[in-house]
Amino acid sequence: MLDGLIASDGIAIGQALILNEVLRVPDYSIRTADVKLELLKFDAALAIARDQLVDLKDRNKNHEKTCKILESQLLMLVDPLFVSEVIQKLRSEKRNVERVVSDVIAEFSRSFRSMDNDYLKERAVDVQDVGQRILRNLLGQEIQSLESIPNDTVLVCHVLTPSDMARLDTSKLAGICCEEGGINGHAAILARALMIPALMGVEGITEQVKNGDRLILDCINGKLRLDPSEEDIEEFQELQQQLLFSIEERQESVSGDAVSVDGVELTLRANISVPAEIAGMKTFGAEGVGLYRTEYLFLKSNSLPPPEEQLAAYKKVASGCAPFPATIRTLDIGGDKDLPYLGIPSEANPAMGDRSIRYCLQNQDVFRTQLRAILQASTEGSLRILYPMITVPEELTQANQILDEVKQELSRDGVPFDADIPIGAMIEVPSAALTVDLLAPQVDFLSIGTNDLMQFTLAVDRSNQRLSSRFDFANVALARLIRNVVDQGAQAGIDVSCCGEMAGTPIGFLMLLGLGIRDFSMNLFSVPRIKQMINRIEVAEVERVVNDALSRSTSEQIRNKLDQYLQHALSPE
Ligand code: PEP
Ligand code: MG
Repeated sequence: MLDGLIASDGIAIGQALILNEVLRVPDYSIRTADVKLELLKFDAALAIARDQLVDLKDRNKNHEKTCKILESQLLMLVDPLFVSEVIQKLRSEKRNVERVVSDVIAEFSRSFRSMDNDYLKERAVDVQDVGQRILRNLLGQEIQSLESIPNDTVLVCHVLTPSDMARLDTSKLAGICCEEGGINGHAAILARALMIPALMGVEGITEQVKNGDRLILDCINGKLRLDPSEEDIEEFQELQQQLLFSIEERQESVSGDAVSVDGVELTLRANISVPAEIAGMKTFGAEGVGLYRTEYLFLKSNSLPPPEEQLAAYKKVASGCAPFPATIRTLDIGGDKDLPYLGIPSEANPAMGDRSIRYCLQNQDVFRTQLRAILQASTEGSLRILYPMITVPEELTQANQILDEVKQELSRDGVPFDADIPIGAMIEVPSAALTVDLLAPQVDFLSIGTNDLMQFTLAVDRSNQRLSSRFDFANVALARLIRNVVDQGAQAGIDVSCCGEMAGTPIGFLMLLGLGIRDFSMNLFSVPRIKQMINRIEVAEVERVVNDALSRSTSEQIRNKLDQYLQHALSPE
């Protein structure tokens, strides 16, 4: 039995499938005398890639389109520009061949992407694909297909990236078990959204489990059972049934409103990652979507999703949500949501790197296409646009300027859209939380993203499971920042809501409520649980407890106070 952190609750019984490790490209300097050896390694990797591609082409000879792609990839292996660039860089930079190849691939795909011609732009994906193949050959790693996995698969891996998640057929996935990764990382968020039981931080799992091993993933108690007996399996199957039952009961009992004992009406919305989740919105009693993480649309394919695909997704969300509003967040890529085909060079600190709104303001074609699709979809319902990771007011000015230009284009083209579509900024870095008065004049609403706000305020990597206990919602500094946002938002006369995972946990929710938030967005699964709680608590009392807690110095003291209140409020009279 191994221990882990529960990232998404539930029970999974199934067969292990070990996911290849994400490519980690080593980086070291070499001696002049070793350049020749590195060149030989490069030659060998190219030759293996050639054989693999010829074999693939053979197996796909009935698919004309696939053959064409493979042919062009074969040509790339002998492209003199590519080959000579690697050789020349190896000689001049004297770094190991894997590092050099990885850098050259990033440069090439970036230059393809910046071309005007659409055909050439698309070649960036092929460059990435061939590049990964050469790198895997250099590192001696097999390429694993994730498209067709057996039913009841329990995915076992070192780290699970959001793009791995996007490539998986999640309908076949019973559970996820990772050696690394925090419960607030994006893979964990997606697992919760898809209701796939997941455990993170299970040390030694990739060494102890083999492909096909029977596993029980107990994400109620945070345990992974290796080699379970038939009795274990029966016992857990029963528990699985009971859990399903309690979810149904929960859903039935919360079809009512989110009103507290002292009559305060609250709004609970859903955080979604894929449009299909809209179906669950009504079942779980959420009033619209407070956060649609559009990046999954970008993560699930090997190239930028075409405008029509984006439009279809946004329309689906807008119409599926109506009459409630849906908040569409513009591309929040980077950090732990890497999109290899964008060719962003590797960064030492991706969480603070060229990401999110920064990337969109630099790569305006991507941003404009997305804004255009959102605006076009806005006639299907009530949409709102949310910019992620705003750090300074200038970013809002620039983003709004681009939005205005896109609106003008649409008007010129005679395409209808909601001209008054509300615009919001995410407050997820301390600089934004401290300058709400300067940001507010440029937006209609603010949405606090506590996952990142906490990461940046406490300097705690949200994906690092060793620091999970420091990722603490009952923190005074975080609470003071949130209070500042609520107060300054009220002074500016604009709505402030919260869409971080904090809203979906009992203590986090109480903190936010006590700090003055009335509009919450959370993973669907949490909506009924939180609604049930709301029906039993008094907002005035929670405010009193939180205010009192704010003068206490430790999280433990704050947590104890809130726990005590919760126990008292939830105990049967
Ligand atoms: C947040 O940071 O709190 C947030 C909601 O955005 P994401 O989790 O997608 O970074
Ligand atoms: Mg965020």
